[in-house]
Amino acid sequence: MHDLIQYCVQNPIALYSVIGLFSLCIGSFLNVVIYRTPKMMEQEWRTDCQLFLHPEQPIIDESKITLSKPASTCPQCHNPIRWYQNIPVISWLILRGKCGNCQNPISIRYPFIELLTAVCALVVVSVFGPTIHMLFGLVLTYVLITLTFIDFDTQLLPDRYTLPLAALGLAINSYSLYTTPTMAIWGYIIGFLCLWVVYYLFKIVTGKEGMGYGDFKLLAALGAWMGPLLLPLIVLLSSLVGAIIGIILLKIRKENQPFAFGPYIAIAGWIAFLWGEKIMQIYLGQ
Ligand SMILES: [Zn+2]
Repeated sequence: MHDLIQYCVQNPIALYSVIGLFSLCIGSFLNVVIYRTPKMMEQEWRTDCQLFLHPEQPIIDESKITLSKPASTCPQCHNPIRWYQNIPVISWLILRGKCGNCQNPISIRYPFIELLTAVCALVVVSVFGPTIHMLFGLVLTYVLITLTFIDFDTQLLPDRYTLPLAALGLAINSYSLYTTPTMAIWGYIIGFLCLWVVYYLFKIVTGKEGMGYGDFKLLAALGAWMGPLLLPLIVLLSSLVGAIIGIILLKIRKENQPFAFGPYIAIAGWIAFLWGEKIMQIYLGQ
């Protein structure tokens, strides 16, 4: 193991290959997380509601969904997916996007998320090189991809991922990894407050709720990772990304679907994490 790490640090091709292949597998796992987390939350809400409304009734014993259980099956024929049908991207290509048993089409989203995870990871490697900054940058990237797709699907940014992400940002920056400890704390506070203020102003003016608490927590987490100085850039970029993707989605779907802001914050946050300081320097003309 130590030799492999040593070899990767010295040999860029090995580094890119190892991180790329590893991230394809992580992408495969993220598919499971993205698909199952909303189902797990729904099951927990059902249990909680039942406990609250009918505490005397026993809980209907559904088999509990977790990230590891039950084993993955085809949603159509419930045939278990074997390990060789679960190789990132390759299996989907060999099966030509269909279940090996019932020929039910498998969404292209699965290989897409696997490839996206690998490509984003390689970008992180190219920015940071073989450093500890790269390792935690990969973690941030994986979590942001997960949050982007969960929010896109369900308009939810689960606390179970945003809060640990913020905690991790504060923890690593206590060693001044990406910013100073003081900046990380203020990034967290200001990240939360700035969207919270927008939310309340919007609510007072229009009487509607424009975004959710998940958005504040995500921006707070990004503030904890990068400090408060990059937050204006994230907010600006997220509006820009939102406008571009919004127009594309409107063209594709032609219908008015609920609006999730989280994906744009996540994408903008990722861009700011990698190139924020450079963008700021160009912008400020230094
Ligand atoms: Zn099937």
